[in-house]
Amino acid sequence: MTSACITITPFGAAGEVTGSSYLVKTPHGSLLVDFGIFQGTPAAREKNRVPEDLNPRNLKAVLLTHAHLDHCGRLPLLVRAGFKAPIYCTQASIEMSRLILEDAARVQESDTLAENKRRVRAGLPKIAPMYTEDDVVQTLALMRPVEYGSPLALAPELQATWHDAGHMLGSASIALKIGHDSKHTSVLFSGDIGPRRSPFLRDPVRFHDADIVFMESTYGNRDHRTMNETLDELSSVVLETVARRGRILVPAFAVGRTQELLYHFATLQREKRIPALPIFVDSPMAIEAMRIYAQNIDYFDKEAQDLIRSGQLQRELANVKACPTVEDSKALNALEGPHVIIAGSGMCTGGRILHHLRNHLWKEDTTVMFVGFQSRGTLGRRIVDRQPRISIHGIPVAVRASIRTLGGFSAHAGRSELLAWLSTLAPGSPRVQLVHGEDEARQSLASAIRDRYDLVVELPMQGVEIQAP
Ligand SMILES: [Zn+2]
Repeated sequence: MTSACITITPFGAAGEVTGSSYLVKTPHGSLLVDFGIFQGTPAAREKNRVPEDLNPRNLKAVLLTHAHLDHCGRLPLLVRAGFKAPIYCTQASIEMSRLILEDAARVQESDTLAENKRRVRAGLPKIAPMYTEDDVVQTLALMRPVEYGSPLALAPELQATWHDAGHMLGSASIALKIGHDSKHTSVLFSGDIGPRRSPFLRDPVRFHDADIVFMESTYGNRDHRTMNETLDELSSVVLETVARRGRILVPAFAVGRTQELLYHFATLQREKRIPALPIFVDSPMAIEAMRIYAQNIDYFDKEAQDLIRSGQLQRELANVKACPTVEDSKALNALEGPHVIIAGSGMCTGGRILHHLRNHLWKEDTTVMFVGFQSRGTLGRRIVDRQPRISIHGIPVAVRASIRTLGGFSAHAGRSELLAWLSTLAPGSPRVQLVHGEDEARQSLASAIRDRYDLVVELPMQGVEIQAP
């Protein structure tokens, strides 16, 4: 076998951060690594399809790095187009994919319903949702679990191994070995690389051998604020709120960020830096994600495992209350005294946070604490930009609350950590393909890699085939 027979074609996340997917063609069969949706722009809907030059029936398998929608969100389209082979990922990724894909289907179905009402009034033809819960059920039925570190033989000379990427529960980098032991090509997909020392998760595994590496570059041009600075800020927000007996509203993504925040609250309470004020998790999806976390403790780092197995974390978080029902959520309206409400969505584009903002954003004893990036065009961004008045469900609301943004939480490694991740691979001179980053970020990281490690770095384009070395 010669490596000239191996090609890799990106079907997304080339010069942007969504739509991750690669077609890998080998003499032993073709695979997809990830099949994520494009998000965030009006053009995304048009791009969310199965590429014409991809025949789903010819694929041997899909290898999934992790369950975020921008990595798994197009899988139901693939299944709808006739894909019937296995989708391999970790057990935690299967459970997270179930949660995230079912939610995505429900959101698409209800968005389509609303859009069609508008279209009927405007005399336009109706549209169909991208996919339905039924398509998701078919997709989940194809998922097969793999273990970190155990090579999976897809063919006698085609092997894939998942390694912890520390980015979300069950996330992985995937190493492909194509050929036999004495002569083979190693293709490495970093997946999304987590920061080191993030709560619950283990640090991302580093690699020593690859011929070509597809590496994420989301924060290729900058570092995050340090976790210590961020926790200092979190405790000062809590102390201010306690002093004025107000409330903190936290728009947070249900999966990952909410659990991470609770962990930080527990740490600060343990260190007696903040009192244990009531914390309400007002999100059915976040509550379900917490259940999945609790059932997958083996995936956690040692510190989190010890805290949970000894029952300490559960005792420390006795001040956290779940609000699964709408009635539970409404009961929070009348609540007096300092407390925290964590509710989705993370950018205030929907979900229960909107009700809390409508009820409390105009009060001076409210603090809205943002813990994630707010995209242009979202309600969250308008609040962060301190527009004097915003509109929620058509009702004008004055922005009198205190607005705080905590910059240090991220599920992605910053620039310095990305460079450190590559340091163990660099001596073997792999060809580096920078993906999953906007052009400014990946160009900046590319020059840093060339300067520091003297490697060949390329910025692949969507749909353009790359030959493995
Ligand atoms: Zn991700």
